[in-house]
Amino acid sequence: MENYGWKQESSGGQAEEAKKRVLREYFGYDAFRPGQEKIIDSILAGRDVLAVMPTGAGKSLCYQLPALLMPGITVVVSPLISLMMDQVKALNEAGIHAAYINSSLTENQITKALALAKEGRYKIIYVAPERLETPRFLDFARYAELSMITVDEAHCISQWGQDFRPSYVRILSFIRNLPVRPVVSAFTATATERVREDIRSSLELERPCELVSGFDRENLYFEVKHVKDKKEQIRNYMEAHREDSGIIYCATRKGVDELYLYLENLGFSVGRYHAGMGTEARRQGQEEFIYDRTKVMIATNAFGMGIDKSNVRYVLHFNMPQSMENYYQEAGRAGRDGAPAECILYYSPQDTVINRYLLESKESYREYTAEELRIIQSRDMERLRKMEGYCTTTKCLRGYILNYFGEQAGENCGNCSNCLEEFEEMDVSEAAADVVRCIRASGQRFGMNLIAGTLLGENTARIRSCGMDQNPSYGKQSGLGQVRVKEVIRTMMERGYLMQTADKYPVLRLTERSQELLEQTEPFLLRYKKEEEQSVRRKKAARMEELTEKGQELFEELRRLRAKLAGERSIPPYMVASDKTLRDMCIRIPLTAEEMLKVNGMGARKLEQYGSQLLEKIREVTGGKTDGYAAAGPEETVPLTEKKKKGKKEEFHLTEEILSRIQFIPETTISDFVSRINDLRDEERMKRLTIKWLTEHLLEEGCLEKKYQDGYTRNILTEKGKKAGIRAEERISAKGYPYEIFLYSEKGQKHLVEILKQG
Ligand code: ADP
Ligand code: ZN
Repeated sequence: MENYGWKQESSGGQAEEAKKRVLREYFGYDAFRPGQEKIIDSILAGRDVLAVMPTGAGKSLCYQLPALLMPGITVVVSPLISLMMDQVKALNEAGIHAAYINSSLTENQITKALALAKEGRYKIIYVAPERLETPRFLDFARYAELSMITVDEAHCISQWGQDFRPSYVRILSFIRNLPVRPVVSAFTATATERVREDIRSSLELERPCELVSGFDRENLYFEVKHVKDKKEQIRNYMEAHREDSGIIYCATRKGVDELYLYLENLGFSVGRYHAGMGTEARRQGQEEFIYDRTKVMIATNAFGMGIDKSNVRYVLHFNMPQSMENYYQEAGRAGRDGAPAECILYYSPQDTVINRYLLESKESYREYTAEELRIIQSRDMERLRKMEGYCTTTKCLRGYILNYFGEQAGENCGNCSNCLEEFEEMDVSEAAADVVRCIRASGQRFGMNLIAGTLLGENTARIRSCGMDQNPSYGKQSGLGQVRVKEVIRTMMERGYLMQTADKYPVLRLTERSQELLEQTEPFLLRYKKEEEQSVRRKKAARMEELTEKGQELFEELRRLRAKLAGERSIPPYMVASDKTLRDMCIRIPLTAEEMLKVNGMGARKLEQYGSQLLEKIREVTGGKTDGYAAAGPEETVPLTEKKKKGKKEEFHLTEEILSRIQFIPETTISDFVSRINDLRDEERMKRLTIKWLTEHLLEEGCLEKKYQDGYTRNILTEKGKKAGIRAEERISAKGYPYEIFLYSEKGQKHLVEILKQG
C-alpha cells in the first residue's frame, strides 16, 4: 500500500497534527467547517456517527478525511452513480486512491477493481447498495480490513423519507455479516426526527455521535420576487450575470421546455433537463453543464441530486416549489464553494394552484389506502402552506428557513431581500389592541373577514346579523383601510398573538400572548415594503465586489487558464480550482509557491499540479505588482458594514441639517420622537430611523433592561434611564392590569439625540 504519510497516531497532539496536515495537503483547506471536526474526531475514536448536514455543508470531507487516517479501507454506500464517479475522480485528483463499484462497470472491470481493492490499493471504495450483497463483493469484504462503512444519503433507508430505497434496508445484513464490525457513519441532508430514528435503528447504530449542523449558509443571498413577467425578469437577470453559472428550476416539464426555448432564442448558453427527455440527452446536458460548456441549466426538480458543481452562482426558481425541504435543497446548490451566490424565487399566486394540482395528481398516491392518502395529502398541503408563507413573509427569509428546520435565528440577517429591502415601519399598537378587544367581546367565534369588517365599521347585513355593530371596537379602525387591518391581523397570527382554527371556516382565537397587546408594554410594529421600491430596489450582487476592474480582468484570465488546464485533463474546471480559489488569488496575488499555498483551496497536491502555470499567469498579468487588484484587501478584512452599504439609500444618520431642525417638546413617546425625526430627513436618500434601533441602544446603555415577568419579557426602566430623562407612567389596561409606558422629557429626547450622534 502506498504510504500517505500517516499512521495511526497515538498521542492526541500528533493526531491533531495529522488531521490538519491531511486537510491541508489533500483537501487544500485551512480550517474545518462547523461540525466537521466533531464528526471526524468521533469516527477516529471508533464511534458511530449520524450527521445531518445541509447540502453543501461539506459532508464528504467528514468521512473522507478519517478514511485516510484509519488503517484499513472505508466503504461508502451511495445511491447515485454520477455522484460516485465525481467523488472518485476528485479524490484521485487530490492524490487519494479511490474506486467505485456500480452498474456502469463491466463484470471484468469489477473483478479487476475488487482484486486491486483486496490488495489494499484503495483507501476509499464507493459502492451502490445493490452491489453490497453480490458474492464477489462479499468475498472482498470478508478478507479486506474494513475500517468504516459510510452510508451516504442515509434518509433513503426510511420509508418516511422522501426517497425510500429498498436496497438500503439490506445494508444492515451486510454489516452484520462482516467478521469485525467497523465504525458505521451515516450522513444525510434532510431528516426529521422520525427519519433519524429509522436510520439509527435500521443501521443499528451504537450510541452514535449525533450532529445536526447549522443549516445556515451565510454566503447565500435569498430573495422572493412577486412579479408577473417572470420570463422578462429572468432574462434581465441573466443579462446581468452572463459570465456566471446558474440553475433555473421550473415546476413542470412544459415550463422547462418553454423557458429553454425562450432563452435559447435570445442567445443564452442554456441547457435543459427533465424526466421526459431520453437518458442520453439528460446525461449529455448534465455533462455540458458540469464542464461549464453551458452556463445555465433549466430543469425540473429531477435535476441536481448528486451534482457537486461548486461554482453555481445562482439558483432561480421560476415557480414556487412544493415544500421548504425542496426549496432549500435546490437553492442550496448555489455557492457550494462558499463564495457569494444568489437564490431568487419568482413567486406568483398561480404557483400555488399549479402545486396543488401537482400534489393531487401525484402518481405514487395510487398505492396508498384511503386513510394513508388523506394523511399524506394533508401533510403535503401543510408543507405547501409553509412554502407560501416563505413567499409572502416580510420578515427575514433566512430566519424563516432556519426556523422551519428547527433552528434559532437572529432577527435580521442583512443578506436577504427582506432585510435589505426598505421597510416602512408603522406603529399599530392601538389597532392590534382593538383586534384583541373585538375578538374577546364577540366570544372568539368569527373569522378574519368579519373581524376586519367590524374594525373598519362596515355596515353589512352579516355584521348587523351577528350583532357586531354593537361591538366596542366597531369602526375603531376605519381610518386604517382594509388592506392594513388584515395585515395587522395576519401579523398578529405570525407573531403568536392570535391563532386561527383549522376548520373549513377558520375562526380567530386569542392566545396566551394576546393580553400583552392590551398592555402595550412595547409598540406593535407593522413592517411593509415601500410600494414604489418593490420593483427597483434590489441588492446588488455581492459577487466579485472585492475586486477592482483590474482584478476582474485577472480573474477572467485565470478562468481561461483553468478551462484550458481542465480541458487537457478532461476534468470539470472546478476540480482544478473553484471560483473562490481563483478570486482569492486575485486578492492575494501570490508570486511564490509559498504564497500560493496560502490561497483558499490550494493544497500541496494542487500546487504541484497547477501551481507553476497559475503562478506564471499571475506574474505575466501583474508584472509582479500586487497593488490595485483587491478593492479592500483580503476577504477577511472587509468589514461587514462595508458590504451592506450597497443599496442606493444610505443608512439613517444624523446630519447637521437634521440636527439643526429638531424641536424638543416637553414630553413625548419614542414612536412619536422617531417619526418626527424621520420627517426631517431626505427620504430619497436616507433610510428610516427605526424604533427598534433606538430601543436596542437604550438597552445596550442600560437605560432600559429586559426582564422576564409574568410569562413574557418586557423592557423596564432602570435608574440610569430615569437619570437620562425617561419616565415610566403607569396605566391600567382594560382588564385591570397595570402596565407602563415610557415618556421622554426634553432631557430624555436630547439623550436620544446623543445616541444618534454616536451612530
Ligand atoms: P455535501 O456533501 O454536504 O453537500 P460536499 O461534501 O460536496 O457537501 O462539500 C461542499 C463543498 O464544500 C465542496 O466544494 C467542498 O470541497 C467544500 N468544503 C468541504 N469542506 C470544506 C472546508 N473545511 N473548507 C472549505 N471548503 C470545504
Ligand atoms: Zn434576512
